Amino acid sequence: MDCLFCRIISGEIPSNKVYEDDDILAFRDIAPEAPCHVLVIPKTHIESVDAITSENSAIVSKIFEKIPSIAKAGGAGNGYRVITNCGEDGCQSVHHLHFHILGGTKLPEHVV
Ligand code: AMP
Repeated sequence: MDCLFCRIISGEIPSNKVYEDDDILAFRDIAPEAPCHVLVIPKTHIESVDAITSENSAIVSKIFEKIPSIAKAGGAGNGYRVITNCGEDGCQSVHHLHFHILGGTKLPEHVV
């Protein structure tokens, strides 16, 4: 298994968990860019947004159903930003679909 996030899911690499169920794991980013910086990932390996299909897209809606409660549990109850980086120009560094939840402070208005 050559995927960092699959290794986190299996428990081989420890993580600071915020939420977990049969399909989803949410854990704190190791290099937080905001007071609350949580990553939400599907337990099934999907490379990126580019790899979402009609066969695997149900997990994406499940993730978004859970994001509000994960954000609150993670410390972003007053609002947050959800970001997913995709591919080279999107600066995706881990090739397992993940959604960054950023909050816990007033964020800059513009991302770029
Ligand atoms: P991206 O650059 O969008 O692919 O995001 C990958 C994120 O994973 C980065 O924000 C990293 O800080 C984070 N990250 C890398 N390794 C770990 C780890 N072991 N535990 C938690 N977060 C990690």
